[in-house]
Amino acid sequence: MSGEVTPPPHAVHVEVTADKRFGTNSYLVEDESTHDAVIIDANLEPALMIDLVQRRGAVVKAILLTHTDIDHIAGLNELLEAFGPIPVAVHAAERAVVAEGKPLRREFGEVSIRVDNVVELVEDRKFRAGSLEFEVLHTPGHSPGGVTLRIQNRLFTGDALFAGSIGRSDFANSDGAVLLHGINSKLLSLPDDLEVHSGHGPATTVGRERRSNPFLR
Ligand SMILES: [Zn+2]
Repeated sequence: MSGEVTPPPHAVHVEVTADKRFGTNSYLVEDESTHDAVIIDANLEPALMIDLVQRRGAVVKAILLTHTDIDHIAGLNELLEAFGPIPVAVHAAERAVVAEGKPLRREFGEVSIRVDNVVELVEDRKFRAGSLEFEVLHTPGHSPGGVTLRIQNRLFTGDALFAGSIGRSDFANSDGAVLLHGINSKLLSLPDDLEVHSGHGPATTVGRERRSNPFLR
């Protein structure tokens, strides 16, 4: 026995901004000890996030994308202008959306975003940004590269799971059965008290959604 003790993780501060048009959430996740931070999703009002980061004195190390629907990436250019060419992390299945401007949905037009510093979110591979460490769960179905990000007791589920609802699966590259399977096998299997922070709307918990989400029964 080495007697080695794992130090407790730093406390993490989470704060949300939402745009008015789609009510899309962008999250600031900040290590309260080091002030290292990431932004999860880039909604239509990046100025709200830039303001929040400045008020808190957070040091943004990366932008993580739960998926690449336009309302989750619209603010990328302005965030990158504000914080420098920090990495933008996305699942491989949607990398071309932000790297090449290839639209996620054939229903919608071209995307005017070209990010140079794209890195990949890989299922079961820890994603580190400064002193923060996220677990990556692939939760596709709303979109092919949809991911849920976990840090400590918090999940960021994008448009896979909402309080009382689940993501749309009526797009050409959506799949409702895949979406439900991912939610059931990877999210609802987690402890009740895990917080769920969604792409739209209020926060909830795994336990509350398992018990009362009408789309999951
Ligand atoms: Zn959305």
